[in-house]
Amino acid sequence: MEPSFVLQHVTNSVGDTFDIVIQNKKIAQLTKVGEGQGDHTFDCSGLFVSSGWIDLHVHAFPEFEPYGDFIDEIGVKQGVTTIVDAGSCGADRIANLMKNRIESKTNLLAFLNISRIGLQQVNELTNLKWIDHQKISHAIASYPDEIIGLKARISRSVVGENEIKPLHMARKIADETKLPLMVHIGSGPPAITDVLPLLKKGDIITHFLNGKANRLFDRNGHPYKEFLEAIDRGVHLDVGHGTASFSFQTAEMARENGIHFDTISTDIYQGNRLNGPVYSMAHTLSKFLYLGYSLENVINAVTVDVANWLKKPELGRIQVGDLANLTLFKLEDKQITLTDSEGEQRIAKKKIKPKGVVINGELITY
Ligand code: ZN
Ligand code: ZN
Repeated sequence: MEPSFVLQHVTNSVGDTFDIVIQNKKIAQLTKVGEGQGDHTFDCSGLFVSSGWIDLHVHAFPEFEPYGDFIDEIGVKQGVTTIVDAGSCGADRIANLMKNRIESKTNLLAFLNISRIGLQQVNELTNLKWIDHQKISHAIASYPDEIIGLKARISRSVVGENEIKPLHMARKIADETKLPLMVHIGSGPPAITDVLPLLKKGDIITHFLNGKANRLFDRNGHPYKEFLEAIDRGVHLDVGHGTASFSFQTAEMARENGIHFDTISTDIYQGNRLNGPVYSMAHTLSKFLYLGYSLENVINAVTVDVANWLKKPELGRIQVGDLANLTLFKLEDKQITLTDSEGEQRIAKKKIKPKGVVINGELITY
């Protein structure tokens, strides 16, 4: 038996307060405040708890510049217990990413880039020969638990003269492998209205709040018909903030039209972590509180809602018997300047600050 510990007096995002007892890496008990018994007790008064945050779009392969970072820097050190690498690696380097995974504390899953070269060069879909069916099948067969989807970056600088062709190929591979597709959107061509009809239920649009000319809303701020149809089909909307892909104006447009995020992710890597505008998951979540979403909505978008999309419900709940993956955080009444990808600044009055995690049963506080 390993020593047990109690997180005493934690509060969840809907305001319930309780103790959590952790023993042998698992959630052993949920009790009334003060009733949790263990070898060590940590007073968590004033702290919120949720199941461990999940970031559905990160770049966790530091070998690649500029879009790379160290797994634990964007994971357990900032309140995130599970990261999903969004196609940094294709079939050529996925084994290296999986090796880094074993050497890190943070849980890691991955979208496999349909281009075998991944982000080794950031025009990875300019050469259609880099979309290699055999190598893709081999990679998926080698890491069936870790590869949870396919990634295709469909914007001008990535696809070059191939325009929509790589997306047609991605569609076919996704259908054959029965894996969902995460599509990065950005500048065209291809036009966003040509991209959307190719997405099916369970696929993900990442960067859906970007403020570029080829965004999901027309000049008058109305969502394109193809966008509304995609939402109706069950296409999933992911934030993927990134250096260039989150606009307050677009986010407000979306909200006015009743279009809401399914998941909030960062698209974090070293550059936008150190220099902004992303900085961290908590900083990104604070932007959505500023936009008027409730703490419950915002936290669900990095816990239960991502876990359900991943078909891993255990990652999105706090339940006795589960491996303990939790995030402890504070909601501070503090003035904070928030900057979007267009350089637009807003002043918020509340800030989410991570205070620690339980990662696979181990407590790390900061
Ligand atoms: Zn992207
Ligand atoms: Zn990305």
